[in-house]
Amino acid sequence: MDSTADEPRVPSASPPADLEPEPAVDPDKTLELTFDIGEDGAVRVVPPVAAPARRRRARRAQQPADERVDVDVVVIGAGQAGLSAAYHLRSSGFTAVGERDWERAARTFVVLDEAPSPGGAWQLRWPGLTMADAHGVHELPGMPFLVPDLSEPAARTVPYYFAQYEDAFDLHVQRPVRVTSVRDDEGRLLVESRSVERPEESVVFRARGLVNASGTWTKPFWPAYPGQGSFRGRQLHTHDYRTPEELADGHVVVIGGGTSAVQLLLAIAPLTSTTWVTRRLPTWREEEFAPEVGRAAVALVEERTRAGLPPQSVVSVTGLPLTPAYRAGIEAGVLVPRPMFSRITTTGVEWDREPTEPGWATGPAAVEATTLLWCTGFRAALDHLAPLHLRGPGGGIVMDGTTVVGDPRIQLVGYGPSASTIGANRAGREAVSRLRALLP
Ligand SMILES: Cc1cc2nc3c(=O)[nH]c(=O)nc-3n(C[C@H](O)[C@H](O)[C@H](O)COP(=O)(O)OP(=O)(O)OC[C@H]3O[C@@H](n4cnc5c(N)ncnc54)[C@H](O)[C@@H]3O)c2cc1C
Repeated sequence: MDSTADEPRVPSASPPADLEPEPAVDPDKTLELTFDIGEDGAVRVVPPVAAPARRRRARRAQQPADERVDVDVVVIGAGQAGLSAAYHLRSSGFTAVGERDWERAARTFVVLDEAPSPGGAWQLRWPGLTMADAHGVHELPGMPFLVPDLSEPAARTVPYYFAQYEDAFDLHVQRPVRVTSVRDDEGRLLVESRSVERPEESVVFRARGLVNASGTWTKPFWPAYPGQGSFRGRQLHTHDYRTPEELADGHVVVIGGGTSAVQLLLAIAPLTSTTWVTRRLPTWREEEFAPEVGRAAVALVEERTRAGLPPQSVVSVTGLPLTPAYRAGIEAGVLVPRPMFSRITTTGVEWDREPTEPGWATGPAAVEATTLLWCTGFRAALDHLAPLHLRGPGGGIVMDGTTVVGDPRIQLVGYGPSASTIGANRAGREAVSRLRALLP
């Protein structure tokens, strides 16, 4: 295998049935050498793809805390947004830390990811979320994403594709490595990182630019409601949901008006009784998802981030597509919500009054439940950027496209208007182009 090849290998269409998550790299493992016989008959040693990165990590293991590494750009996160940025850095001449002779390269980048394996947040989604349920997972730049079987779990199919992508473009993602903070130090960004498996190992990258692509999955949003702490049953968030069987032991109240709520209701309803509660009546979209609907939704979210307001999810603006499964759910009464309850009690939820508007379901003033399932979304995972004080009085960060207006060295991708797979792709390209203009 030639580790220097820039051409992507076209992936096989689907992961092998027994695919296990990639084991974390063992830095102590002896490197296996591969031999290649050239056309001239000469035998050459082929360097393993990740060999330099492994050696680097091995060296780090022997060093005290806080090794310092100079690098031009740090990318935080290897989901869709981070991989897109890494691809564009790579194709504009940046060399990945860990690549052969990277120390001598004119311009360098490193991708740090705290997840154990390739796949971004997709590897952590519930097993029942199939590729058919996902609303269009866009391919990454430069390599097709072939999905012959839409009934495959997204948590297997997308990570398999990402793994091949990282390998094909030689991106040398360092994982599992968590960025704990980013600070400013005399014109450089100090990106503090720590091995997830061996927290005593830390590296501080001194960077000239930063692409933050840390997604939202690690920040599930739990709204506060009266009585929440008194409930004696089970409370869980979409983030922690795995299978409908786990919730089949009693009535489930599902809270939230987005796609996750709808999909989980349809999964749970065949096994047990459910109540759906939302703050607003859902907007069902009859027509096909036209590109202009998407563009208008993105423009609305962008308006908010430009004004420094916390971003709203793109899906919350586009409404829910009226698929045959969703239509059947509405006809069965599963997907007809009640308005938000007034309080949570020790055994369930209670309403003070019946809704007056048409469209809402009605029911008893008190509902007993075994589970409250909070499908209430996620927030941008930006805690590690807190030392930079980027948030303004509006509660969000004032943005111009992917650029933080207050500090243009920092690019946020997969944030606000680019929080979709297609948006993340574009944002990766834009962020790199802006950093190239800024960092001569
Ligand atoms: C349930 C659900 C379903 C969705 N379905 C779709 C869909 O069908 N189609 C679509 O276009 N979009 C969908 N989205 C939105 C979509 O997932 C995202 O827009 C896109 O995949 C996110 O990519 P990302 O790179 O921004 O983030 P992620 O995929 O979340 O990747 C972020 C990466 O950053 C890493 N990270 C986070 N913090 C740190 C840190 N401090 N240090 C190091 N690494 C860190 C994480 O480990 C992760 O690997 C869905 C979202 C959810 C929640």
